[in-house]
Amino acid sequence: MRKPFIIANWKMHKNIQESVEFIKQIRECLPQAGVEEVGIAAQAVALANMKQMVQGANLQIIAQNAASELVGPYTGEISVRCLADAGASYVMLGHLERRRLFHEDNETINQKVLTALATGLTPIICTDDKMVQAEINGEIHYIFDQLKGVFDGVAPDQLKKIVLSYEPSWAVGSSQTANPLVAQKGCSRIREMIAAVYGQRLADQVRILYGGSVNPQNIAAIMANPDVDGVLIGRASLQADHFLEMVNWQQ
Ligand code: PEP
Repeated sequence: MRKPFIIANWKMHKNIQESVEFIKQIRECLPQAGVEEVGIAAQAVALANMKQMVQGANLQIIAQNAASELVGPYTGEISVRCLADAGASYVMLGHLERRRLFHEDNETINQKVLTALATGLTPIICTDDKMVQAEINGEIHYIFDQLKGVFDGVAPDQLKKIVLSYEPSWAVGSSQTANPLVAQKGCSRIREMIAAVYGQRLADQVRILYGGSVNPQNIAAIMANPDVDGVLIGRASLQADHFLEMVNWQQ
């Protein structure tokens, strides 16, 4: 049974004080840990203050990126060791904005995945429509060669812990409402592709989230899909009352 995982991606929107205040507002109203996992991906400098504020609530602190190397002369980078020290349990890697604006490729993301795993930080690997499908001669084909690059060197027992997300580029940060059928299709294709390499048993254990214009109105329809194990929420997660509505979508 895959536990649902609801994640806020705050990108670069909140400063430290705003991040801490937000946690104070929501921590008493989060669902039980046995029912659902909840996390917030925030700017690295806010993580330690946020962690202090969690005070035993069901809330994972998530980093939005990390260096591909563990240690060394990489001025301005942030290592997974420091992120773990600051209280992060997960690190988001390969978000569409990292790929699009900072030119991260699969090789770099793969290196970050391996480095995170070596330190005990669990990667949340983001994939977009380009990595899941391609149009060839007017037909949609589902492709694994791009996706596979991200998993190079990941052992089966490590894969079990990894979280994946499917975020179609046209739905992230756009005005297009997420379509539950598209969400299901993307997530199920990723699961099929994982099954082809790692086997069905393992693929059935991996959590795959959907991201792209999720909001309090559409979350229940998206979560109703069998292969969607959670959501990654950008804009709609910035307001505490909206975020609480979404993490409590089951009620
Ligand atoms: C995101 O950035 O991961 C995202 C899903 O954004 P939004 O919910 O705003 O589309």
